[in-house]
Amino acid sequence: DTRQRALLRAMTFMSVAAPCAVVLPTMPPRLAAIANAGRHGVLVKSAVVMEKLGATTHVAFDKTGTLTRGIPEIAEIRCLDEGFTDDEVLRLAAAAERPSEHPLAAAIVRAARARDLRMPEVTEFTAHPGRGVTALVGDRLIGVGSPATAGPGLASGQATVDAVQARGYTAVIVTCEHQPIGVLALTDQLRPEAAAAVRATTELTGAEPALLTGDNRATADRLAARVGITDVRAGLLPDDKVTAVRQWQADGRTVTVVGDGINDAPALAAAEVGIAMGGAGSDLTLQTADAVVVRDDLTTIPAVIALSRQARRVVTANLAIAATFIGVLVVWDLAGNLPLPLGVAGHEGSTVIVGLNGLRLLRRAAWERAAGTRD
Ligand code: ADP
Ligand code: MG
Repeated sequence: DTRQRALLRAMTFMSVAAPCAVVLPTMPPRLAAIANAGRHGVLVKSAVVMEKLGATTHVAFDKTGTLTRGIPEIAEIRCLDEGFTDDEVLRLAAAAERPSEHPLAAAIVRAARARDLRMPEVTEFTAHPGRGVTALVGDRLIGVGSPATAGPGLASGQATVDAVQARGYTAVIVTCEHQPIGVLALTDQLRPEAAAAVRATTELTGAEPALLTGDNRATADRLAARVGITDVRAGLLPDDKVTAVRQWQADGRTVTVVGDGINDAPALAAAEVGIAMGGAGSDLTLQTADAVVVRDDLTTIPAVIALSRQARRVVTANLAIAATFIGVLVVWDLAGNLPLPLGVAGHEGSTVIVGLNGLRLLRRAAWERAAGTRD
């Protein structure tokens, strides 16, 4: 009778109009992309991050520890004070740097060990992010850090610093009781894949990445030229890196920052997505970053952005599939006479299709396509 038929139609309607296939399109592609990226060395910490990565329009790389290996070496020691020998300058600098986790500090300590120099315990160690360190070695206040922030006391050493920087070295000034006693020239190796990663990122986002560094202008420009970056922001303190990110955001860009977390942790936090270098990064950074590049392979960064875009496209396609199925079945039911079993089959069928479609992003081919950035 009519009441039974009305009830059946209502049931059919509710089955086919239920939005299962609208919920299922979004999560499987993102989770599959996360699993795939993880297998290839990028740990993305949530589906939200995986979604945001694909929206990236601007990428900024930190220099030390990110584009470079972060394992610098001392190339030269220049004494500035006749009262000190090269070894004495190195010994005092290493003693002051021993508690620091900065890659330059580690290089200085390694060099002192290699020369069998005894490093006394220090007191009142203070790290000045983006600048350097100070500590009491015995009763002498030793400072090790950037010439840019050494102040006017550097006067006599400025020519030495300029000469060192002109050759592409990172100059670090050593002071004793605020008097410059020496300049250490350090070099760091460019990561072999850095130029390829910059090129792929430029192609993918349509915008050239930027370089953010606390190091000096001459060294930064030289390195940037080798990897193909022209937007170089040098001599930045950690807060200046944040300011740069905020400016891009104010211009309407979606920013991904890649760093090692040493002096760039605030910038990683300010960006839409902060990616930390797993090998070179500090422990705290690995915990707070949105994603971690496990094997420190920079080419995985454009790849994971491309993978996220693939996931976005699958989500869009899935929503279209789901909406089409629901639309057709609902209209059929309202206008014609859709049998309940067919309605249920069509509905569940579309849910399964959409679910399986998302899982395509688990395949190795999906990553390879992303890594080739044939986006
Ligand atoms: P980057 O931005 O390239 O990663 P940082 O911000 O870590 O570089 O450091 C910027 C500059 O500050 C260095 O080039 C160096 O001159 C100085 N500096 C920072 N920390 C130290 C330290 N522990 N010892 C010596 N110099 C330091
Ligand atoms: Mg760094």
